[in-house]
Amino acid sequence: MTRFSLAVHGGAGTIRRANLTPQAEAAYHNGLKRALQAGHAVLADHGSAMDAVTAAVCVLEDEPLFNAGRGAVFTSDGVQEMDAAVMDGATRMAGAVAGILGPRNPVMAARAVMEHTDHVMLIGPNALKVARDAGVPFEDAGYFFTQARWDALQSTLKMRRDGIEDSDPARRHGTVGAVACDMQGNLAAATSTGGMTAKAPGRVGDTPVIGAGTYADNATCAVSGTGHGEVFIRFTAAAEIAARMRHGGQSLDQAAKHVVMQDLAQNDGSGGLIAVDAQGNLSRPFNSEGMYRGTVTQDGDFQTDIFRDA
Ligand code: ASP
Repeated sequence: MTRFSLAVHGGAGTIRRANLTPQAEAAYHNGLKRALQAGHAVLADHGSAMDAVTAAVCVLEDEPLFNAGRGAVFTSDGVQEMDAAVMDGATRMAGAVAGILGPRNPVMAARAVMEHTDHVMLIGPNALKVARDAGVPFEDAGYFFTQARWDALQSTLKMRRDGIEDSDPARRHGTVGAVACDMQGNLAAATSTGGMTAKAPGRVGDTPVIGAGTYADNATCAVSGTGHGEVFIRFTAAAEIAARMRHGGQSLDQAAKHVVMQDLAQNDGSGGLIAVDAQGNLSRPFNSEGMYRGTVTQDGDFQTDIFRDA
């Protein structure tokens, strides 16, 4: 039997110790820890990696501090459009939704697409119908609103009006995700996001794109990314890690670090990712100033970190 492991992230970006009050820092650690606890409980009870990653991501979506579900960022039109995906490494089944608003947990809408349709990705009214028919709870727009995200939108729009280009996309993004290896050695990944502040209406990032921001295959790894989505898509970030392992014989950590520190970092792709292989090894590289992240293994050693010098 494999020793299980789980990693979560709450987004990478310009996260500086000087900008976080001790209370805010504690709240982020607390959110990550609760997500780890939810996933750990599933895995310790011999549950599946898929159940563990969706349980962990639901906790992060419910926590308004993170840019997913409640607390998602706004498009330039002042609307929240959420993307999410899941992938099961044992079957390579996957489900994804893009540009949706309504399901309390977009990750469960993605899982409904995987479990209740013959398709991988749905958008528009039918994505919502599939979620509703699967019993996924819905909320009004007011539930998802947070003043902090609204204020961030206003200041980004003002910068645009003033002709000030935000040279640092890391300031505008954030995402949540989880990867797990269960006791059977099965892998799974789940990712959920509001995308990037002031994104164009209809813009879809890497999160729901299988092989870019989300991926799982028992033969190699499960990956959940966070960062400048367009670059993750163009460099097929998650699939590239798997390819380096499969064809190049690289370890999980070598492959993950190469993609984050070279492919992405050298091409304006700020961000990071969490990854796990079928032996339960974990890797969590990032090239930004910080990444909200946490891991737990079978021995119950819960670890959460935010800054680079954690
Ligand atoms: N990758 C997400 C997107 O581009 C945002 C993020 O992870 O920060 O939609």
